Amino acid sequence: MNVLIYGCGQLAQMMYLAACPLGITVRAVDVDNECVVHPISKDTLTLSLEDAIQQADAISVEFEHIPEHLLALAQKTGKLMPSMDAVLAGADRVREKTLLDTLAVANAEHAIVSELSQLDEVVEKLGLPLILKASRDGYDGYGQWRLKTLESLPELKDELQTLDLSAVPLVVEKMVPFDRELSLVGVRNVKGEIAFYPLAENTHHEGQLHVSIAPAPDSDARLQAQAEKAFTAIANAFKYVGVMAVEFFQVGETLLVNEIAPRVHNSGHWTMAGADTSQFENHIRAVAGLPLGSTEGKTLSAMLNIIGCDHFSRELLSVPRTQLHLYGKKVRAKRKMGHINITADSYTKLGKKLKKVAEYLPVEHFPRIQNEANKLI
Ligand code: ATP
Ligand code: MG
Ligand code: MG
Repeated sequence: MNVLIYGCGQLAQMMYLAACPLGITVRAVDVDNECVVHPISKDTLTLSLEDAIQQADAISVEFEHIPEHLLALAQKTGKLMPSMDAVLAGADRVREKTLLDTLAVANAEHAIVSELSQLDEVVEKLGLPLILKASRDGYDGYGQWRLKTLESLPELKDELQTLDLSAVPLVVEKMVPFDRELSLVGVRNVKGEIAFYPLAENTHHEGQLHVSIAPAPDSDARLQAQAEKAFTAIANAFKYVGVMAVEFFQVGETLLVNEIAPRVHNSGHWTMAGADTSQFENHIRAVAGLPLGSTEGKTLSAMLNIIGCDHFSRELLSVPRTQLHLYGKKVRAKRKMGHINITADSYTKLGKKLKKVAEYLPVEHFPRIQNEANKLI
């Protein structure tokens, strides 16, 4: 059996690693060069994309920003899971908001701006502060602008002048004064069965995920149920097959959807150490038509992203129950280079372990660890 993944980054790599023991081969597609590569070495295979598509038992994605003609090529074989519609809803914020509103899933108040002249009216209607997001190709906080004061509006307009908003509109959102950010990772199979991981609490820095804690501290069954309800509505709307992640803002007892990711997700990396079945294995199981694995959290987990740095002591592995996952990438500012999973049996112990691991890490690249550790202890 073989699964073809559009995209050849770390997510394809981790799906490959999870598929190996199941006897399933994962091939990856470099979507920029339209060639088939090995998910670990990234060596180009002597196999055309057309042949790889034809040979695949299932086709999936590691990233939502896939050129549409490639999605269409896969979709027409009937082997693309999740479907093209689902991938596009994650890739295009206008589609995403339309979907959420159609399904009556709570999300931040917003407006679509497809001409700069509409901005004044939108600012007036929504009020400040606002966050403006390019509707396509944004991730890790790229393609976003924040508007805090009316005085800075002219400057922002100048900056936006260069964009073709009629082709790629902006989604303008009210800044949500959230208490915290959570995400729900779950998996749906062809039969419509859904399994959910516990909610994770996510800490971002400059628009990028830095730390996830799972299960989210102080989460209760009501919060989990609220998240599962939103997830189910979205997943069922697409007859979704595979792992999906939904990001939320928690405001009091209410969850607002921030965005959906039609794929395995960074905030689910903790499942490699902390859950019965990792999100990567469950995605492969779902698209391969195998029974879903248990999503129960077997312990408490912290996941630290290693961002923009590769100089740290591997001695951090001496901290018990710590795992290192490196993606084999060349270092670049803000680039996700790997992650560290840490598990413990209580939040206090987890916090203390975070502090121990932090001793081996350059603090400037991990600005959120100490605070997260202190919250847990
Ligand atoms: P990802 O890498 O998760 O795909 P992205 O570039 O798609 O990121 P978003 O998830 O939309 O970006 O936003 C990044 C972060 O910016 C959020 O996790 C949150 O911290 C902050 N943010 C985004 N939208 C809002 C909002 N409406 N109110 C408050 N904060 C927000
Ligand atoms: Mg996103
Ligand atoms: Mg996000």
